[in-house]
Amino acid sequence: MSSPSPARKQYLEFKQQFPDAILMYQVGDFFETFDEDAYITARELQIVRTTRSYSKSKERVPLAGIPKHALDNYVGKLIQRGYKVVICEQVGEVQKGRDVVERAVTRILTAGTLSEPNLLPVRQNNYLVSIAPGRTQTGLASVDVSTGEFQVTWFTPDELPVALDAELQRLSPVECLLVEGGHAEAYQFPSKNVTITHCPAYFYQQEAAQTRLCRQFGVQSLEAYGCANEPQAIAAAGAIIAYVEKMNSALLTLLTALNSYSTKHFMVLDAHTQRNLELLQGTRSGSLQGSLLGVLDRTITPMGARHLRRTITQPLLDLFELNGRLESIEELYESPAIRRRFTMSLQELGDLERVSGRIRQGTAVRNEVLGLRDYLAELPTLRDLLQSCEAEQLLTIASELDPCPQVSELIQRALIRPDEEQDEGDNGRLIRPGYHAELDELFNSIRDSRRWMISLETRERQRTGIKALRVGFNKVFGYYIEVSNANLKLVPDDYMRKQTLVNAERFITPELKEHEARILSAVENIEGLERSIYADVLRQIAVFYPQLMTTATAVARIDVLLSLAEVAAHQGYVRPVLEQGHRLEIIGGRHPVVEYTLDGDIFIPNDTHLEATDGERIVLLTGPNMAGKSTYLRQVALIALLAQIGSFVPARKAQIGLVDRIFTRVGAEDDIASGKSTFMVEMEETATIINHATSHSLIILDEIGRGTSTYDGLAIARAVVEHLHSTVLARTLFATHYHELAALATELAHLRVYTVAISEDESQGIVFLHRVVPGCAERSFGVHVARLAGMPDSIVQRAETVLAQLETSRDGEHIAYSIDSHGVRESRIAEVGDSSYATGNGHVPHVYWQSEAARRMAESVEQ
Ligand code: ADP
Repeated sequence: MSSPSPARKQYLEFKQQFPDAILMYQVGDFFETFDEDAYITARELQIVRTTRSYSKSKERVPLAGIPKHALDNYVGKLIQRGYKVVICEQVGEVQKGRDVVERAVTRILTAGTLSEPNLLPVRQNNYLVSIAPGRTQTGLASVDVSTGEFQVTWFTPDELPVALDAELQRLSPVECLLVEGGHAEAYQFPSKNVTITHCPAYFYQQEAAQTRLCRQFGVQSLEAYGCANEPQAIAAAGAIIAYVEKMNSALLTLLTALNSYSTKHFMVLDAHTQRNLELLQGTRSGSLQGSLLGVLDRTITPMGARHLRRTITQPLLDLFELNGRLESIEELYESPAIRRRFTMSLQELGDLERVSGRIRQGTAVRNEVLGLRDYLAELPTLRDLLQSCEAEQLLTIASELDPCPQVSELIQRALIRPDEEQDEGDNGRLIRPGYHAELDELFNSIRDSRRWMISLETRERQRTGIKALRVGFNKVFGYYIEVSNANLKLVPDDYMRKQTLVNAERFITPELKEHEARILSAVENIEGLERSIYADVLRQIAVFYPQLMTTATAVARIDVLLSLAEVAAHQGYVRPVLEQGHRLEIIGGRHPVVEYTLDGDIFIPNDTHLEATDGERIVLLTGPNMAGKSTYLRQVALIALLAQIGSFVPARKAQIGLVDRIFTRVGAEDDIASGKSTFMVEMEETATIINHATSHSLIILDEIGRGTSTYDGLAIARAVVEHLHSTVLARTLFATHYHELAALATELAHLRVYTVAISEDESQGIVFLHRVVPGCAERSFGVHVARLAGMPDSIVQRAETVLAQLETSRDGEHIAYSIDSHGVRESRIAEVGDSSYATGNGHVPHVYWQSEAARRMAESVEQ
C-alpha cells in the first residue's frame, strides 16, 4: 500500500495521541471527523457521512463534518452521550501550494471536566468521581469542577457493594476515573452514558497522591481534611487532582479544600431505594416528572436547586439540626408575605457559585462579573429579611451572607456596563476612566490626535484655500486628506499622493502619518492593557472566593428552606414531630407525588401506626391489584424521608422516631446486564435487608417470592416475615398477594393484617376505595383488573370460567381457614358458594375466609 499523504499523516499523528476520544479536526470552516470517529458522529449527531479522497495517494476515508459555528452544540451532545472530544484547530496560515496547515489541540473535553457554562446542566451538579478499591478499604472521591465542591468518603469491605452503589446513585456521576485495568462493570452507575476513564497507576499510587493533595492545598499533612489515615480515600482524591491537572489545570484553582464525610451520618438509602422511591427521577418518565424532587423543587436559584437534590438524597439523623430546619420552615410557612419577599429577593440572585468559580479561574466574561455585582447588591436586602426572622437557622444564614462591599466597589470602579452612556471617544471601553492612569493616558492621546485631525481639516482648508477639502479614514489606507479633481492644482507640495479615486485624489502628510501611527499604537496598547487590567480585577475579586462561596452556600440553604415552606403551604403539609424512639405514627398520610399528579381527583388519606419495640411492628397489607398498596407503602417511606430532610409532611399529623435506613424491595426488574433473573435480584435485595436492618430501620416490602413457584414464594415470604418480626424488630410494611400469610397474625404478636378496601355492587362493579382498613382481602380481583386493562371480553369470560372451575376442583373439597377469637381454624368444606364463605383467589391451596370471622379479626385489630 502506498504511504499516506502528508495531510492524512498529520491527522493520524494527532489521532494516535487520543485513541479513546473523538477528534474534531478543523479543516477551514468545518470540523471534520474521520474513520471510526466519522461513523460515531454520523450516528450520534444524525449528520451525513461521506468519504474524502486524498488525490495523490488515492486513499478514500470515511468523513463526517460539522460547521464551525455549530461546534459547541454538537460537542455538547457527544459529551452528554459519554464521549470524550478533542478539538484540534488550525493555528497557522493556509499557504498556497501547501496542503498541510499547522494544527494544535486546543481543548480536551470530557463530561467531568467541563466548565463551559453553555455545556453544563444548570440546576444539577456535574460530578466526576474516582474509585480506588482496596483490600481493606475502598475510596470514593467526587468533584464538581464548576462549583469547586470536592469530597471523599470510604467504605469497609463489609459495606460493599451496597454503600458504594448507593453513593454512586446519589451522585449520579457523568464521568468515573478508574485505575488502568479497573473494571467498570463492578460498579452500578445510574446513568448509562457515564464516561469511564482509565488512568495510569501512578495517579492512584498512595504516596504520590498524598503529595499531590498536600501541594494542592499548600499543607504538610491531610490531618485537617479528616482523611490522613485513609489510604484509598487519598488515592481516589489524589487521582482526581492528577486528572484535572492533565485535562485543564486552570480548574485546579477551585479545589481549595477536601471535605471528608461518612455516609453513616445520613439516613442510608441504597441505590434500589433511591430508585424505587423515585427521589430524583420518575421511573416511568426518566425525568423529574413523577419524582419527589419534581414536587419539592420550587427553588429559585441554581445553587438552591443543586442543594435541594443533595438534601433529598441525604436525609439526616441529627434531631437538633432537623428541628432547626423545621422551625425555620414553620416560620416561613406561617407568613405568605415574608415568603413573597424572600422569593423576590432570591430572584435577583444568579449562579453565584459558578460565577465565583469562573472568576477564580480567570475565565468569567464582563457580563458575569457585572452580574456578580448585582447579586451582591441584593444581599443586604436578603440579610435584612433573614434578620427580621426568629428561627435560629435563618439568623445563622443571615450571618453567613457577605455582600463583600469591597468587591462591589471594585467592580463599580473598574468596569463599564456595555449599555452605559459614555463620552464620545470612550465608546467600547471595558475599563472605566479613572481606574488606571496609563490606560486613560492612551485614551487621551487618541482623543488628542482625533481632535488634531478635526482641526486639521479647518487648518488645511485655510492654508490651501480648498473649501471642499476633507479629512477621512478608511480601514485599508488609514487617515487621508481628500481633494476633488477640480481642486488638484491647489494641493501644496508637502502632500503625498496615496490613492486615486474617479473624482478625487487622497493625500497624506508626514504630520498626519505621525498622528495616525500614534492612534494605531495606542489602540493596540489599549487592547493589551485592558486585557491585563481585567485579569487583574478578576484576581482581586478572587481573593474573596471563600466569602463568596460561603455566601453562595447560605443562599442555597435559604432557597431550599423557602422551597420546602412553599410546598408545605401549597400542598397542605404539617410539621412532623421527630423523636429518637421507634414509633411511626401518621394520621391522614398522603403520597406526595401521587396526590400531586392526581389532577382533580381526590387522594384518599390513610393512617399508619408502627412501633418497632412494641405494638404493631409489621403491617401485612393485602388487597387486589390497583387498590393502592404500593402507593401506601411508598407514602409511608416518603413521609419518613421528608421528615428527615427537615420538611413538613403530607399528613394531618405525624410523629416519627428517627429512621436510620429505609429499605425497599419493590417489583424487581430483570437485571439483564448482570445476567440475573428477577428472582435472583429479589432474593439479593431481601438478603441485604435481612443482613443490614436494625430496629431503627423502616422496611418496605412489596411482594416477595413472586418470581418463583407459589409454594417457594410463600415459604420464603413467611420465613422473612418471621425473621423481621422476631429478630430484626424493624418497622415493616409488607404488601402481599399471599393471603395465606394472614394466618401469621395469630402467631406473631406484633403483626397485623390490613387490606385496601374495595366496594362491590351490582351497578358499578368493583370500586377501589383506596382506604387501608384492618382485615384481609378476600380475593385478588385479577380478572377484574384484566378487564380494566382492556383485555378482550372473550378472554375475560374464559378466565372467569377457569377460575370458577379451579374454585370447585379437588373432588369438591376445599381447605378453608377462618379466624375467630380463638385463632386460626382450618377446615375442609365441600360447598362453594355458601354465602358465609368468600371465594378464594385461585392460588393452590385455595384459601377461604369466613367473612364473619374476618370481620371479628378486624375488630380485634382495632381494639
Ligand atoms: P397496587 O399496588 O395495589 O396495585 P397502586 O398503589 O399502584 O396499587 O395504586 C394504583 C393507582 O391507584 C395509583 O396509580 C393511584 O392513581 C391510585 N391510588 C392509589 N392510592 C390512592 C389513594 N390513597 N387515593 C387516591 N388514589 C389512589
